[in-house]
Formats: sequence, C-alpha cells, structure tokens
Amino acid sequence: MVSRLPNPAPPEIVDVFIARLGAGAVSVADHDRWLYARDMYPVTLMHYAEGSLRHFPDLIVHPANTEEVVAVIDLARSFNMPVIPFGAGSGVCGGTMPIRGGVMLDLKRMHRILEVNDRDLTVRAQAGIMGQTLEMELNRRGFTMGHFPSSIHCSTLGGWVAARSAGQCSSKYGKIEDMVLGLEFVLPDGTIARTPAVPHGGAGPSWQQIVLGSEGTLGVVTEATCRIWPAPAQRRFLAYEFSDVRTGVEAMRLVMQNDLRPAAMRLYDPLDTLMVGKSGAEEDSGGSGLMDFIPVQQIETRLRTLIPRAFRRTQRFVAGYAEIGNKLEKLSKGECLMVLMFEGETRLTDYEFEATQHLCDRLGGINRGPEPAMKWFRNRHHVSYKMSKVFYNGAFVDTIEVAASWTRLPALYDAVRAAIRPLAFVMAHFSHAYPDGGSIYFTFLSSAPNATEAERKHKAIWHAALTAAMAVKATISHHHGIGLSKGEYLRRELGEWFPVFETLKSVMDAENRFNPGKLGLA
Ligand SMILES: Cc1cc2nc3c(=O)[nH]c(=O)nc-3n(C[C@H](O)[C@H](O)[C@H](O)COP(=O)(O)OP(=O)(O)OC[C@H]3O[C@@H](n4cnc5c(N)ncnc54)[C@H](O)[C@@H]3O)c2cc1C
Repeated sequence: MVSRLPNPAPPEIVDVFIARLGAGAVSVADHDRWLYARDMYPVTLMHYAEGSLRHFPDLIVHPANTEEVVAVIDLARSFNMPVIPFGAGSGVCGGTMPIRGGVMLDLKRMHRILEVNDRDLTVRAQAGIMGQTLEMELNRRGFTMGHFPSSIHCSTLGGWVAARSAGQCSSKYGKIEDMVLGLEFVLPDGTIARTPAVPHGGAGPSWQQIVLGSEGTLGVVTEATCRIWPAPAQRRFLAYEFSDVRTGVEAMRLVMQNDLRPAAMRLYDPLDTLMVGKSGAEEDSGGSGLMDFIPVQQIETRLRTLIPRAFRRTQRFVAGYAEIGNKLEKLSKGECLMVLMFEGETRLTDYEFEATQHLCDRLGGINRGPEPAMKWFRNRHHVSYKMSKVFYNGAFVDTIEVAASWTRLPALYDAVRAAIRPLAFVMAHFSHAYPDGGSIYFTFLSSAPNATEAERKHKAIWHAALTAAMAVKATISHHHGIGLSKGEYLRRELGEWFPVFETLKSVMDAENRFNPGKLGLA
C-alpha cells in the first residue's frame, strides 16, 4: 500500500520562506518530501521499499549561511513548526525522520572550507561540507583529517559532530569528539553561540561536548574547527589469523596497551572471516553491497558459494537466515582474520609494524601478509546507493555497534550473539580499538513476510541485543548514535543523568522545536 502524502506547508507559509531564502532554496515538491522522509534507518528502508512511509516534512529548506539558518529558525518559531537539521541523511537510527512533520533544514549548501591553519594544524569549515570533499581538499594541501567513516561519501561534517561519528582509523586519530576544537552553533532561540578553538581548554564545563552527540535536539551546528594531521608519509599493511576470537581480542588489547597505534585494526569473527575470505583475492569481496556497513551482496554471494544446498531448499535466499547461520558455523574452524593498517611518519610506522608482528607472533597468530588488509583498504568506502534486492524480497539487514572495556568485550560478544542468533543470521567484527577497550560491530540478517512483521522482528532483535549489551555494562552505541530507534535504551543507559538531559533540553529548547521525539526525549 503506497502512502498518501499529507498536504505540505500551505502556500502562505511557503511564500514567506521563499521571500527570505529565495525560490531555489525552498521545496514542497512531492519527490523531495519522499526523499527527506527517511534516512538509512533500515525500518524506513523497509517502508520505503513497500511505499508505506509514514512521516513527511512539511517543507525542505537549503540555507546558504548561518544568518539564513537563524532566519529559518525565526520563521519556524513564528509558524510553530518543528525543525529537523539534516546533513546527508546517512544516519542509520531514524535521526532525521520528521515524525512530527516540520521544516527539514538541509545544510549542504553550507559547504565551504573557511580556513586551513598549517601552523596550528586545524581546519575550519561549514557544517554542510561532505566528508569526502573536505578530505580531498585537505589532501590537496598535504593534510588529512584522519576521519574516514564508511559513509565518507554520503555524510557531512555537521552530521559527524551531531552523531558523534567514528572513522575507520579512530584507533590512531580518535573519534570526531577528539578532533573538534571549536564550534559555531545556532541555539533554538536563534542565538549564534561559538566555542573558542583552544587546545584542551579548562574553562568550566565543555559546551562543545554537550553539542556533540545531541543529534539536532539542541540546535544546529553551522561550523566546526577540527584538528588535522600531515598526510601520511607511508602506509603499511598486515594481516594475521588467530585460532579464535579471544586470542584475537587479546592481540588487539596488547597492541593498544603497548602504545602502538595502527590506524586500522579489525578482527573478524569466524563467520565474518568466512564472509570476507582469508585471502586478498578480489573475487572474495563479491563487490559492493547496499552499503559497506551492511555488505549484503557480499554476504549473499558468499553464502551461495559456501552452502548452495541450503539455498536450493529454502528457494528464497531470505527464507531461513538463522538456520543458514548455524549451518555455516559448522564450516568454520573458528579462525579469525585480523587486518591492520599503519600510517604516518616512516620510522614510527616501521616500528609499529614490527612491534605488532612480534606481539601477534607471541600469541600464535599466523602471518597472512599484506594482501587481505590491502583488499580491505581498496574496498573500504565501496558503498552502493541502490536499494538492495533483499529489501524487496522480505529480508532486512542491520548493524549494531556496541563498545566495552577489554575485560568485558569477550562477554559482550557472547551475550549479544546469543541474544540475536535465534532470530537472525549474525556475524561480527571488532574494530575501533583503544587502550581501554573497543567496539564490536554486529551485522544481522533476517526476514519477514511484510514490512509490518519485519519491523516487529527487527525491534525484537534490537531489544534482545541491547538488553544483553547493557547487562554486561557495555554502551549501546559506539558511533551510530541514538536517533529514533534507541531512545528508550539511552534512557536506561544514562540512568540518573537522563532527567538532567531532559531538563537541559527543556531549558535550551523550551518549545521542543528541535528534532522532537528523538534520543528518548518527548
Ligand atoms: C553506508 C554507511 C556507512 C556508515 N558508516 C559509518 C561509520 O563508519 N562511522 C560512523 O560514525 N557512522 C557511519 N554511518 C552512519 C552515518 O553516516 C553517521 O551517523 C553520520 O555522522 C551522519 O552524517 P549525516 O551528515 O548524514 O547526518 P544525518 O543523517 O543527516 O543526521 C544525523 C543526525 O544528526 C543531526 N544533524 C545533522 N546535521 C546536523 C547539524 N549540522 N547540526 C545539528 N544536527 C545535525 C540530524 O538531525 C540527525 O539527528 C554510516 C552510514 C551509512 C549509510
């Protein structure tokens, strides 16, 4: 059943926005309202595939500068409309879903780099710049931001800040919250508030850190000043195979706690190792899927190769994911592949490379040479924007990224897997390692006869997984944020701090205009 679009904002309101921003910067076109009705939250993708999206913006605006952002906020206040800041819509938790309609505030026209300071090693840019554009421009000048989310081609600087993003190289460069030095932020009453870009300031609480991860609920990021690095002089690649997950995780811990900082270090669990293939051969990758964070096509191709009979029996690829996962486990001997990449100053990376090999050898790891890691590097941003066929076949896929200390990480892996396995095919990799712990990235696939059933099952899987994660004192999100989907779990994770957050929201945004209903807020 295809949704009927509700009426857009009435012409008398649209005209006022057009008078302020210009006709080209305001849209109520049906196709735009469809596009801005969803982000990459799999539940909305299911509804999109079925034509049953439920929430649409009343209008979409494209301000060109901070003053126009302020003007949009003033108009939204005068017409009592919600405002939803929008980067590139790559969020995977429904963060931009206009659940109460309102003004979709797309920042992508604000895409300028304002300053690169090669002495302080900082960049100041407008919030709507796309990640890849920012990185390419920095590379052209001999620098890197060191921030490489898989979505770098389809996400913005402002979206990274708002959703506390992590790049694939966060073990070396940190997450976005480690990179941001100063912000320009428009508060819900239209005030432009700036935090000065000072190194490690100690002047009272950090307002910047409150904005980081606020996902559009407290106002709009319009500019950010971030740390940058000299472009790496050298990159080296390495891969190891470990006998089991626990030995691999122990290797990661030792690497990080011995002051080594590989830019990337990813350990695939046995099922994920089967999926990526242990060699560096390109045919193993199966090309790009719906998106790198859910490599659907790759999984489908590998599953068909590994257990063709199961497919013949189930006819539809999507029919029995949980059972397929169990069968597949029997094919695996439990080995786990780890890929590593070192980058930076030549002598330093040479030292890190050698010392890491030494640690992995000591744990009985088998050196698999550079190719598997080079293959990962070549494919790391392969993202297809086509809707995967699995969504049309009644299947759904999603990822869960949780994090915990080293002590709790193995228990976290066991608990979440055990919680999901009865309902879905699940595999995982460990990435984003730090001296005190790291994150686990679970990918699950399941199926249901229609979008409503799929949504119910999807919710049950998430509930089982996050309940299990919280039981072992892990955080419910390492970098995808909270959005619409994880609100109730944020409430539980924050405990006594949640009412403080609610109070802060009610003070900063007394009219509850900014991205209402997200992050577990009213
Ligand atoms: C293929 C794929 C791969 C991904 N890989 C990664 C990854 O490796 N690492 C990672 O961290 N994430 C990843 N993500 C998730 C997503 O890219 C991040 O959450 C990203 O930070 C969102 O940026 P965006 O500009 O698309 O924001 P949007 O999706 O547009 O918005 C996200 C949230 O931030 C708010 N927001 C956006 N811009 C602003 C602003 N200027 N001011 C205030 N609030 C704002 C929105 O209201 C919303 O709540 C991936 C997503 C996809 C689809």
